[in-house]
Amino acid sequence: GREVARTYLAQPAATRDGTSIRVQVNIADPSDVETVDIGHCDGVGLMRTEFLFGKVLPDEGTQLAAYRKVLEWAGGKPVTIRTVDAGGDKPVPGFTVEETNPFLGLRGIRLSLARPEIFRVQIRALLRAAVHGNLKVMVPMVAVPGEYAAAAALFSDEAAMLAKAGVPHKMPPLGIMVEVPSVAVAPELFSDAAFFSIGSNDLTQYVLAAARDNGRVAALHDVGHPAVLRLIGNVAAFAREQKIPVSLCGDAGGDPAAIPALLAAGLRDLSAVPAQLAAAKAAIAAVEL
Ligand code: PEP
Ligand code: MG
Repeated sequence: GREVARTYLAQPAATRDGTSIRVQVNIADPSDVETVDIGHCDGVGLMRTEFLFGKVLPDEGTQLAAYRKVLEWAGGKPVTIRTVDAGGDKPVPGFTVEETNPFLGLRGIRLSLARPEIFRVQIRALLRAAVHGNLKVMVPMVAVPGEYAAAAALFSDEAAMLAKAGVPHKMPPLGIMVEVPSVAVAPELFSDAAFFSIGSNDLTQYVLAAARDNGRVAALHDVGHPAVLRLIGNVAAFAREQKIPVSLCGDAGGDPAAIPALLAAGLRDLSAVPAQLAAAKAAIAAVEL
């Protein structure tokens, strides 16, 4: 039970037969780190930034302070910050638009690219934060390669302007979320990405056409479905072959019931919310690969 899981928390994760597994933490708000010992995880697998986008859109300094706080807390371990994933189940007044089918509409990178004046503020804050730790940045809801290319071009453009202005900054590795089926089916279209992070919450809802936030179809929203696991295995195999780092940052990464299948699909890097870190490590320790 809980006591047994606690003994795993302080140790590096490994399967019963000795394969090391990276276990990172997911955070939704910088104050989450106050409850986590960095020694208990291998970094931040997903820092959501929607929390910053409340009633007023955050300015560059506000964002920089929030990102810097987490980077400094992590003390050199990687911190993967996701650019704003507004829309779908995460509406932001003054930013997202009203749509009849928001999960298939203007959300994530689609919205960021449609509102470059807002996206560029976040990009500048990330470039400036990168000098304070081991930052990685990932883009949510990528469906086609042009979206990744457009985001990368904005990062380069802002970096050039910061350089011209003499502002300290650094270009972080830029990766993508794998949460739209087009990417999971054809990951070879995205071999420019610095890393992949599988968003199993959205990937599952799009593969099974079952909304993640609708209790009536909750039984269909199953990450253990063979179709979802086959896609995860496809991404893991392509990433290994191409030496592209791959992790998983959906809720399944901290779910002891899902972990054996995720490892069997080839994943070796998972990310879990703080409350699930111990249980995830205990579940990994019980797996025989
Ligand atoms: C996911 O979709 O699995 C994910 C990690 O992102 P979010 O839950 O924020 O959409
Ligand atoms: Mg998602």
